[in-house]
Amino acid sequence: MPGSADALRNILRRIDGRGYKAYRDIRGSFDLDPEGLTLHIDHVQGDPFAAPSKLRLRMARDVSGIPEDLDVTPVRRLALADLLVRHAAEAAQSSGSGRQGSGKSGVVWIDVGGQEVLERTACVVTDEFVELRLQAGLPAAGRRVLGREAEALLCEELPKLAERTFRWENLDANEAYRFVECIENQEHLRDQLSDAGLIAFIGDGSILPRASGASDLPLPASDAVPFVSPPSLRVTLALKNPVDGPGGDRHEIRGMGIRTGVTLVVGGGYHGKSTLLQAIERCIHPHIPGDGREGVVSNRQLAKIRAEDGRRVEQVDISAFIDNLPRGRSTRNFSSDDASGSTSQAANIVEAVEAGASGLLLDEDTCSTNFMLRDARMQALVHKQYEPITPFLERVRELHDELGVSTVLVMGGCGDYFEVADTVITLREYLPEETTEEAQKIASSLPSGRRSEAGSRFESVTARIPQARSFDASRGRKDVKIDAKTLDLILYGRDAIDLRCVEQIVDVSQTRAIGHAIHLAAARFMDGQATLREVVDALEEFFDAEGLDALDPFHRPGRHPGNYARPRGLEIAAAINRLRSVRMKQVSSEARAPGPDPADR
Ligand code: ADP
Ligand code: MG
Repeated sequence: MPGSADALRNILRRIDGRGYKAYRDIRGSFDLDPEGLTLHIDHVQGDPFAAPSKLRLRMARDVSGIPEDLDVTPVRRLALADLLVRHAAEAAQSSGSGRQGSGKSGVVWIDVGGQEVLERTACVVTDEFVELRLQAGLPAAGRRVLGREAEALLCEELPKLAERTFRWENLDANEAYRFVECIENQEHLRDQLSDAGLIAFIGDGSILPRASGASDLPLPASDAVPFVSPPSLRVTLALKNPVDGPGGDRHEIRGMGIRTGVTLVVGGGYHGKSTLLQAIERCIHPHIPGDGREGVVSNRQLAKIRAEDGRRVEQVDISAFIDNLPRGRSTRNFSSDDASGSTSQAANIVEAVEAGASGLLLDEDTCSTNFMLRDARMQALVHKQYEPITPFLERVRELHDELGVSTVLVMGGCGDYFEVADTVITLREYLPEETTEEAQKIASSLPSGRRSEAGSRFESVTARIPQARSFDASRGRKDVKIDAKTLDLILYGRDAIDLRCVEQIVDVSQTRAIGHAIHLAAARFMDGQATLREVVDALEEFFDAEGLDALDPFHRPGRHPGNYARPRGLEIAAAINRLRSVRMKQVSSEARAPGPDPADR
């Protein structure tokens, strides 16, 4: 049974001025409002400078009064929860209280997302309750309890925060419906892509450019050229919820469809090519209203590919791209602690396909030149016998025709790709035109003179089985120590996983989730039989069924689970592939020739 607000006040008055450890006495649950608001104090920080305390604020659903139709489907519920987190973060900021005292005294911290809407642990909505998971610094003077300040924080400010976040009468109903319907529309558009033969869709009027390289906010309307589809690539998709436009409610949206197959994006430097690709990259997730990309959706399984020299590669069959290394080194089960630009890019592609990517996104800005192309002159000078690389150009068609994997390639510098593209889009002053026919005409009237050099066909990728014992999350005296303080770095036990080149992670809470998901997968799903693909699929199923609360190995049900946002299986696989200690066994290598277990070498 939860204690009363008075009980909490009494404890705080009693421990006022005592050593910080006395805060332990407030662990537990308290009914701040007998009508239906409970504060759960799940974890109390050890000192004012430690990670803040973990609290949950739970309001009964009927007290909150949020209408049922706002979360009748899983997508709506996810959107609603995301919106409530945004309200809470705003309310916490504007309350501007506290901050007197040492360390993190009085700071309230809520794990709010950026422009993307993701499934996250910061808020849970059910038919019975709405619950916010937050952190707060319990107030201290030096290392002494500031009881009165704590009382103000816990018994006055937090109830106010809950009221502002969860009470329907304090919310803007129009905004709430607009938000939820906007996210639902995006998922509805995404669901139509594959039947329409598309891997991405960019709605007319979208604002793709961002405010700056350091900001994901839209470029101000006065500076941005809104997107307009070329007539030949225009498709119309249905909206789930009508949106108001100049001529009344619209039930459809028009825009440019990017079809399955090979799409080439060309155009002069600075004409918006990378911006278009980045929008496609990011729109695997829905965006908040006002972002400018609410009308842009991509297939959920698109993977950004780039060169990444220096990365670790473990037992990847990259022979479709690279073969005959000097000194006869095999590339059928290629491993390296320091891959080159081209071998890393080859591994990134093979791994993405292995993990279930439906399409690849490449930008010349971040590709390895010799991986992308070998032109006629270079073919004449350097004999194929001495060139291990079969460039992407020779494989991009097979990737689609044999493996069903589409490509969108930004390539302003090389016309040799005209032959292999199904669609060519030219950007001119940020506006797209379809130039497929023109490009094909040019390709036949100005032959590249290249010879095809690919030997065998690229028809399949070799699956690998991750070896559970090569995952060790322990550090020092701790059995499990996994941290993610930035978007692109996981400290996994004593290993560091560098994710700087895994570009589709958008939230540090996803990075944190990936770190813990690896540990969970190693413990539960890596049985020596399951392939990496099966392992990440099992994780996805686990998240669908259980949510993200169980990610922290020390989590107990009914407690603050920590801050997580849901990553895709593709990103989890990418992180596993970059763990320097990881050992894999190829599935077919067992059947071909039972060699020594690489983990035993
Ligand atoms: P490219 O890859 O073709 O060289 P970028 O996509 O990097 O070009 O874009 C160059 C610059 O133009 C960037 O600063 C970008 O923000 C800006 N930009 C891109 N698209 C638009 C647009 N639709 N309206 C206004 N500015 C844009
Ligand atoms: Mg560019």
